[in-house]
Amino acid sequence: MALEVPRTLSPSKASAFTDCPLAFRLSIIDHVPEPPSPQAVKGTLVHAALERLFWDHLPGERTIEAGLDSLELAWEAIQDDPEFVGLALDIDEAAEFRADAEVLVHNYFRIEDPNSVRTVGVELGLETKIGDMVLRGIIDRLDLTDDGELVVIDYKSGRAPSSQFEKSRLHGVHTYALLCERMLGRFPSQVKLLYLRDPVSIIATPTEQSVRGHSKRTIAVWSAIERACENEDFRPRPSGLCRYCNFQHLCPAFTSLTAAAS
Ligand code: SF4
Repeated sequence: MALEVPRTLSPSKASAFTDCPLAFRLSIIDHVPEPPSPQAVKGTLVHAALERLFWDHLPGERTIEAGLDSLELAWEAIQDDPEFVGLALDIDEAAEFRADAEVLVHNYFRIEDPNSVRTVGVELGLETKIGDMVLRGIIDRLDLTDDGELVVIDYKSGRAPSSQFEKSRLHGVHTYALLCERMLGRFPSQVKLLYLRDPVSIIATPTEQSVRGHSKRTIAVWSAIERACENEDFRPRPSGLCRYCNFQHLCPAFTSLTAAAS
């Protein structure tokens, strides 16, 4: 019997399928429970703090103190979040977690001055239909330049990729560009990825050609997911990512890898 095809595709789902179809199936289709990731939860906290910084404060008021106040409000709000609760941090671990989030907020101010940007939206959920696929993405922040150009801002709480992997980590950029074109009528002139850990920004400039190429690749990934569902054929794709995979115990490829290594 064929498996139900997911309703939507996002940049993270597309790269999850490309990285390993079996892990994609276990996570997205079978919903096998996964332990919360401290890095992901910290990313959620810092994103929420920066969202509040832009919602609650006008240009000129977006100081580092305002950023830390926003973090405090986001910290209070996350206490009831099941993912945060699932981390089961003790008092010392929670203090360390909170202090590290504060470092990321400080680092944000080392990348840009939030008073110097003109923001027209935060946490914008955009989606568009391409064939029978619903492509979805959430834009952390949308800015407008003095020339009236759109700039997409994407916060990353992890480290910037090395130049070797930089291109592969930019998969979301073209999705955002495509969504802007479909929903807002034009491409952004830039997509800025702000890596808060380092802290550095990587700027990508989407072109019509690059976005068209990406659109074709996304449709190809969607077709591959549909085929895999139809045939119930999600094969494991072992790689360096296996070390961090939550499904090692369910994966025949991982079992054979560990047996061969012992
Ligand atoms: S252990 Fe590796 S091959 Fe197996 S499901 Fe996880 S990522 Fe895929």
